[in-house]
Amino acid sequence: MSDNTIRKVCVIGAGTMGAGIAAQVANAGVPVLLLDIVPKDGANRNAIAEGAVAKMLKTDPAPFMGKRAARLVETGNIEDHLDKVADCDWVIEAIIERLDIKQDLYAKLEKVRTLGTAVSSNTSTIPLAQLTDGRSDEFKRDFLITHFFNPPRYMRLIEIVAGPQSDPATVAKVRDFADRKLGKTPVDCEDSPGFIANRIGTFWIQAAVNAAFDMGISVEDADAIGGKPMGVPKTGIFGLIDLIGLDLMPYLQKSLTSTLPADDPYQKIARSEPLIEKLISEGYTGRKGKGGFYRINREGGGKVKEAIDLKSGEFSAARGSSVVRGSAAKGDLAKLISIPGKVGDYAWAILGPTLSYSASIVPEATQTIVGVDDAMKLGYNWKSGPFEMIDKIGAARLVERLKADGLPVPPLLEQVGDGTFYRVENGKRQYFGTDGDYHDVVRPEGVLLLEDIKLSAQPLIKNGSAALWDVGDGVVCLEFTGKMNTLEGEVMKLIQQAIPVVAKDFKALVIYNEGPAFSAGANLGLAIFAMNIAAWSEVEKLVKGGQAALKALKYAPFPVVAAPTGLALGGGCEMCLNSDAIQPHAETYIGLVETGVGIIPGWGGCGEMLERWIDNPRHPKGPMAAVSKVFEIVSTATVAKSAAEAKELGFVRPTDEITMNRDRLLFDAKQRALGMVEGYQPPEKPEFRLPGASGRAALKLAVDDFRKRGMATPHDEVVAAELAHVLTGGDTDPTELVTEDQLLKLEFEGFMRLVRNPNSQARVEHMLETGKPLRN
Ligand code: NAD
Repeated sequence: MSDNTIRKVCVIGAGTMGAGIAAQVANAGVPVLLLDIVPKDGANRNAIAEGAVAKMLKTDPAPFMGKRAARLVETGNIEDHLDKVADCDWVIEAIIERLDIKQDLYAKLEKVRTLGTAVSSNTSTIPLAQLTDGRSDEFKRDFLITHFFNPPRYMRLIEIVAGPQSDPATVAKVRDFADRKLGKTPVDCEDSPGFIANRIGTFWIQAAVNAAFDMGISVEDADAIGGKPMGVPKTGIFGLIDLIGLDLMPYLQKSLTSTLPADDPYQKIARSEPLIEKLISEGYTGRKGKGGFYRINREGGGKVKEAIDLKSGEFSAARGSSVVRGSAAKGDLAKLISIPGKVGDYAWAILGPTLSYSASIVPEATQTIVGVDDAMKLGYNWKSGPFEMIDKIGAARLVERLKADGLPVPPLLEQVGDGTFYRVENGKRQYFGTDGDYHDVVRPEGVLLLEDIKLSAQPLIKNGSAALWDVGDGVVCLEFTGKMNTLEGEVMKLIQQAIPVVAKDFKALVIYNEGPAFSAGANLGLAIFAMNIAAWSEVEKLVKGGQAALKALKYAPFPVVAAPTGLALGGGCEMCLNSDAIQPHAETYIGLVETGVGIIPGWGGCGEMLERWIDNPRHPKGPMAAVSKVFEIVSTATVAKSAAEAKELGFVRPTDEITMNRDRLLFDAKQRALGMVEGYQPPEKPEFRLPGASGRAALKLAVDDFRKRGMATPHDEVVAAELAHVLTGGDTDPTELVTEDQLLKLEFEGFMRLVRNPNSQARVEHMLETGKPLRN
């Protein structure tokens, strides 16, 4: 196909990566053909690919975002179905990491693919030049490396390597699809060993492991120092090796030592550790095996987490470690590495060499420092990239200490001198280039970030919990700023202040923020405080204030678009439900979870969900059908595990579009809002035909049944009854119409009865203390 659209993809190799990549293509709504070899013994020639899909349907966290996606995967084998590749616009090879087998496959592909079809390898270690050796010029033009990270749905990095003969148009086509459709951040790499993330990642792990053995640091202390304080996931070093598999380490090591030049700093630190070899040989390959540096001891029916002693190889109960305290624990790297004694020394033993190494691979592995930082943030989940970390420590200070320790000082570090790798100039973020100049960090077209806007702007309005930003073209953005973006009175106050401002000077509003969670819901801490001192009027104010603010937004004279990502729970979900449209990021986990803490939605969530299910053309009509459905979803505190699932559950409307790439969310939401401006009319107030008492009786029967089967607790019954009272419309019957205001009143009354109930209060308290629901 000669145009630039990718309409169908083929993934060859249905292992860990291939299957996951195929699922992500399907998540994007694009059909995908998944092929593997014919099993030696099986009668079913497609068994491997079929088995991979079946396995993914049971995997948690799920590779598929919804049921529809799974149906877009067609399975087959390379002997019978390779000719189907002719219909595909992109073939992704994700087979076993062996050059001869990959080359053999490309030779076959060359015969069946259509000219212009992109072919890419997911190889982690094999240079592109070797992969395409022996292939035609046409094949080389359409060939590139696309290196995904595991698991492909959740890891945002894709490293892209183009060869000297790769056609820039083919590379651009694949990059664009990976970005917009697969939601990945493409980072361009050179054809150098390990590309960026695994090269630095392997070095970093090796440096940390070596130092722990050499300095006598316990695995728990090592993870406590090398994890959170450095902005690294809390698994730290040894916990991470357990996660990826101890047996993978020697493999990665060998692949890098055999491909990197002899004078590469990694060659000096690569070494094998007798204890680790012994662990692997005994089946301690990590979480997938009997355990690794940590294990769960289930002897005597117990469940005790144990950690290994690196000297003796013996396991003993993990004690937890809190060796890092104060600002160092919160990411003050300069402080961390200067703590006297073991903690600071170990932190330095990791950071010194790793940061120096990171600076040494630009431009050999990638052209800019931005690529390195993106790779480590998106491929290894680091909070800050190496160069951002260097800026925290101070490049000059780092150089001084590297020199004092006799460690290499790469030219780029010398070059930046006492400057920083990033700076803000005229409201623009800039990075330090290998040419010694600063350059603007350029975002791809269609990427708009509040983070960038904040560099040069002040909020229009702001308080301790929310802010309002002008995001251009007549659109404002309502940002939540509290912890986990929880919602409380200040947010509602700001909404009320914002409405006249937007109505007067702007065209539309989007609700969006750049926290990991859109909103974890109402601030339970405040709620429990009010409950404890029986400040009922405060709680009433919070519920009524929220209802008023959210409905004021709903009926405001301008379009409102909510753009959630991550958690959108309880009140956060209601914020979305009351908007004219939702533009969710694909990884949005939305739900009305109030019943889990013994209450019911109080900010209009009940009515909004009813409206959505009554309007759903694919759902049966009649007063009871929508009520039952909403009752089922809300009484069980169902949370959608993706935006696609949120559509199936009715939180998101069928007309709403999903954004796959997190960085494109604000832009997409803004476009959506602008598209609604012309001739905008606020929605009409809905009226509901609800079943009343007879409907309640039916719902009660269902709950009774759950109770009998042990699936509902006594207090679940109480909460469910209040929910049923609202959803069925209170004292009504199908001949009457219930207004939205009446429903809000019912919600409010039910909510207030429940917050006064000690069993609900126990649930709230338990949730705050443990993060888990109390099943009382
Ligand atoms: P895997 O062992 O889980 O799966 C490999 C699959 O390829 C198997 O299902 C196997 O049957 C199939 N296969 C072997 N020969 C084949 C052939 N000739 N034709 C079709 N299928 C064939 O491996 P994986 O971990 O998914 O790795 C696949 C590729 O991705 C490798 O190149 C690897 O280096 C790379 N990679 C792996 C990871 C990771 O974390 N596992 C990450 C990034 C890249």
